[in-house]
Amino acid sequence: MRYQRPKGTADILPGESERWAYVENVARRVFAKYRFDEIRTPMFESFDVFSRTSGETSDVVTKEMYDFMDKGDRHLSLRPEGTAGVVRAFVENKLYGPDVPKPVKVYYMGPMFRYERPQSGRMREFHQIGVEAFGSNEPAIDVETIAMGMDLLTQLGIENVRLAVNTLGDQETRETFRQALIDYLEPHFDELSEDSKLRLHKNPLRVLDSKDETDQKIVADAPSILDYLTDEAKAHFDQVKALLDALDIDYVVDATMVRGLDYYNHTIFEFMVNNKALGHGYTTICAGGRYNGLVEELGGPDMAGVGFALGVERLLLLMAASNVEFPAAHHLEAYVVGIGEGTDAATLKVVSKLRSQDVVADRDYLNRKPKAQFKTADKFNARYTLTIGQTELENKTINVKDMASGNEVTVPVESVEKDFNAVLETL
Ligand code: ATP
Ligand code: MG
Repeated sequence: MRYQRPKGTADILPGESERWAYVENVARRVFAKYRFDEIRTPMFESFDVFSRTSGETSDVVTKEMYDFMDKGDRHLSLRPEGTAGVVRAFVENKLYGPDVPKPVKVYYMGPMFRYERPQSGRMREFHQIGVEAFGSNEPAIDVETIAMGMDLLTQLGIENVRLAVNTLGDQETRETFRQALIDYLEPHFDELSEDSKLRLHKNPLRVLDSKDETDQKIVADAPSILDYLTDEAKAHFDQVKALLDALDIDYVVDATMVRGLDYYNHTIFEFMVNNKALGHGYTTICAGGRYNGLVEELGGPDMAGVGFALGVERLLLLMAASNVEFPAAHHLEAYVVGIGEGTDAATLKVVSKLRSQDVVADRDYLNRKPKAQFKTADKFNARYTLTIGQTELENKTINVKDMASGNEVTVPVESVEKDFNAVLETL
């Protein structure tokens, strides 16, 4: 084999692609209920759009970016995530302006790129479905976003989801907590992983997010951000919890959760599942939070934002492992068989007329013998086989056979071409 797909990418073939389309359609339907509209932004952006927002100590920026210089010497990057590009578009197109009613609610779906070590549910090209709501600082919109994520997972048949929430507070919270964390971690410096050693002073919150086992043990006894919240930050978080309770949404508060990207503040959340298909223990399939300050960071006004992103690969692995039923793919209703020379035009015309009646129809295009054509109809699981032979051609008729019951009828071609359903009623 000479050519292979790049490591960490996948071909989504027929059979699988219908599942993708199903998930995307359900997402569109759920998001529409909450008045979210689609936004499509470029697959690549200026490198700075991501480096400025994800954080210079984040995994995404330090190790995972697919960045390159283009032929005009511009430093670009394939998008590692969706939010930064959406915020860039929000600012560039002045959606923050007074003419656009707030909150502005958008969703996106598409490929993201991260140079990671590929494994089950972790790809270099992967896909996210994400949402963003701009222009409201109210805890209610945090909760609506979470509720919509839950709604989506429920609609997709995902059960036993663990919703973890936390708050990263505001600027002041972060600063005092940062110092407390440094004070706690410094005595453990020698035990920390290399990554965490580097991050300890630059961005100690990152250490909380480490996947290294020793780091995780040390972090388990670290101070809790919840003890450092300002009154304002605490009030916001209390209201988020109260509103989650009001909607009867179960959650756990995980004070060690920080998220992998730097732009979050106040509410953060993750939807997790414990399923072998995704590895040991709990795996996050959907995650997000509030990112006040990000719009300003990319040149817009001070405007609040909150959103989430769902990993489609992980979702589909989970759906398959939980035996979620996918709706059947399009089903071939009519296969038109032509016997003998001269039926080419007649059969082509019949399939064309059937399709114009919204019937899923097909015929042979490989010059197969009649027997092979009938076999093909079987293989495609055609519901009806329609046959035009020499006699039918002369009489301008067609034979229609119901493959399940074996019932058949010969009728004028014209009646099939005009109203196939009426013909079926006579079967
Ligand atoms: P992780 O901790 O697993 O690396 P993350 O914090 O980097 O996740 P986010 O940036 O929050 O992930 O992305 C949201 C979701 O996108 C994740 O919960 C996951 O479902 C999915 N995702 C992230 N990276 C990948 C990847 N490389 N391959 C497949 N899905 C991914
Ligand atoms: Mg990651």
